[in-house]
Amino acid sequence: MPENINNANTSNWKNKSTILIVDDEQVSRYTVEILLSPEGYNLEFAENGEEALEKAEALVPDLMLLDVMMPGMDGFEVCQRLRNNKRLAELPIVMVTALDDRESRLRGLKAGADDFMSKPYDRAELRARVHTITRLNRYRRLVETEEQLAYLANYDTLTGLPNRNLLIERMRQTLDRAHRTHQDVAVLVLDLDNFQMVNDSLGHEVGDKVLCEIATRLTQAVSIQEATVARLSGDEFVVVFDTDNLVKEVSHKSQGLLDSISLTMIIDNQEMVITASIGISVYPSDGLEAAILLKNADTAISRAKAADKNTYQFFTTEMNQVALERLILENQLRKVLANDELRVYYQPQVESSSGQLIGMEALVRWQHPKLGLLSPIKFISVAEEMGLIVDIGKWVLQTACQQTKAWQRAGFPPIQISVNVSSRQFKPPHLLKTVKEALANSELHPIYLELELTESVLMEEKSDSDNGILGVLTDLRAMGVKIAIDDFGTGYSSLSYLKRFPVTTLKIDRSFVQDICTDDNDAAITTAIIAMAHSLSLSIVAEGVETLEQLAFLQDKQCEIIQGYYFSPPLPVEEMTHILEKVIEQPLYLMKNKENLDGKTF
Ligand code: C2E
Ligand code: MG
Ligand code: MG
Repeated sequence: MPENINNANTSNWKNKSTILIVDDEQVSRYTVEILLSPEGYNLEFAENGEEALEKAEALVPDLMLLDVMMPGMDGFEVCQRLRNNKRLAELPIVMVTALDDRESRLRGLKAGADDFMSKPYDRAELRARVHTITRLNRYRRLVETEEQLAYLANYDTLTGLPNRNLLIERMRQTLDRAHRTHQDVAVLVLDLDNFQMVNDSLGHEVGDKVLCEIATRLTQAVSIQEATVARLSGDEFVVVFDTDNLVKEVSHKSQGLLDSISLTMIIDNQEMVITASIGISVYPSDGLEAAILLKNADTAISRAKAADKNTYQFFTTEMNQVALERLILENQLRKVLANDELRVYYQPQVESSSGQLIGMEALVRWQHPKLGLLSPIKFISVAEEMGLIVDIGKWVLQTACQQTKAWQRAGFPPIQISVNVSSRQFKPPHLLKTVKEALANSELHPIYLELELTESVLMEEKSDSDNGILGVLTDLRAMGVKIAIDDFGTGYSSLSYLKRFPVTTLKIDRSFVQDICTDDNDAAITTAIIAMAHSLSLSIVAEGVETLEQLAFLQDKQCEIIQGYYFSPPLPVEEMTHILEKVIEQPLYLMKNKENLDGKTF
């Protein structure tokens, strides 16, 4: 931005060059006047240093002819002062010295002179030099003026943000790019709530300062490099950015903007709180062009204002619904432990060769007061993003260990419990401490505990440091806790980490098991995973076994452990207790039960 945009002197805009001649000798001044006046310049004069500075400040000339030898403030000092004056630092200065006064010329250069001329003046030289310098200076000013005009056309002078013009241009570029990369673009129009009141009650000057503060806060809060933040008009601002995760990222960003705007601001020693409403439209679903997207975001604003102010609204109703549900979910999820709304369900695992119940997987559920029993698929990833998974995971681990020990105390055959562990919980040393506490509190022997983690956890570990994941797993194994890789086959399925980490079990993902009887590829992959587990002496569990055919296939390939609806879905404590009771009477209860139901035998 050109610096002197607001105080551009009028001489910047005219063609006739102004020359300020500074000389204490009247004869000299007169000579220059005679030599230069036919050229059509605007000539101004100063008799001493002080007057030179004053006139330079007032006139902002195109050139100063500055005599070195003057009583009082000499030419060097004048020159130096001008160079230190921000506004006049660029003023072309030609110093007038005695012929061949080398020392003065050196001093003049140091003081910041652009050129030198000797007295007495040579008529041709004077005219030529003045002509060249004023022409260059005029050209420079012309360029500056063009820059200024371009700036004025594209930027808002109050806040320095892009204005509507530049916004539309930038939006066009962003939309073109999004079209090529198949991304969504969010257009957030933000309007301050009751801003008119600020203007009316505190005056426009305060209003302007508020707008500048809002511009700064918006720019800082957006924190995406490619985002465009612009001022549309009055108290309307726009933020545009492209996104891969539409509703989630956009709602978070919008809430972040609202939060940062509503922080108390102090303007002219007055504390005030300003809020805003945001309307959101999305490319391509709400429009393909900048103008339409802005119009639709504007429509959404009116809804936000009508609803509650200090809030955001999507243009599309379905998106509002998704955003709202997520917001509600997040808020309620925070209280899920305090409200005692989590439940652990237990899904039996059956040994395929003997038909005996040998383990269970603990699977969390949310007993929501209004929505009923919610699957972990609905809330685990949100809990992970919010960091709540650490506490939730700890609670599941403790509950599962306690329940398993309670069953053992009640005289049921001791079976193993598998508990899912999120990668977020895997930041040492939390997990080790959490596991030790859960085992100590429940008095469950570590050999009955298995932790299920996903391949991604192991892939995060870069080096074999003891402090990292490898260290934690090694300590857990040393205690006797087993380590299973969940959903095996869906991730990287790299063999190298299976050797590096003390893994005991692989769980073949449900997506392979599902089609083992119909899809040759899935059958081949499953067979290979089982063979690999055997060669590495790992236990192998097939998840999601639903049919007798699947079971038969897996038995044939000697897959050791079977988990799935075929035997039982995950069950609440009472129902699992019921199964355990049956198993005491009849160790092959689960297997036999199915035989009876299906009328088939093994
Ligand atoms: P997962 O660990 O792979 O658990 C197996 C999922 O498959 C469970 O879903 C289970 O109900 C389901 N399932 C079992 N047998 C069958 C079957 O025969 N057919 C079908 N269609 N599905 C079957 P669920 O309980 O909804 O859990 C989903 C995922 O949520 C789990 O996948 C696990 O990754 C995660 N999860 C559950 N509880 C916890 C927890 O306490 N902590 C963490 N971090 N994640 C958990
Ligand atoms: Mg699991
Ligand atoms: Mg799984």
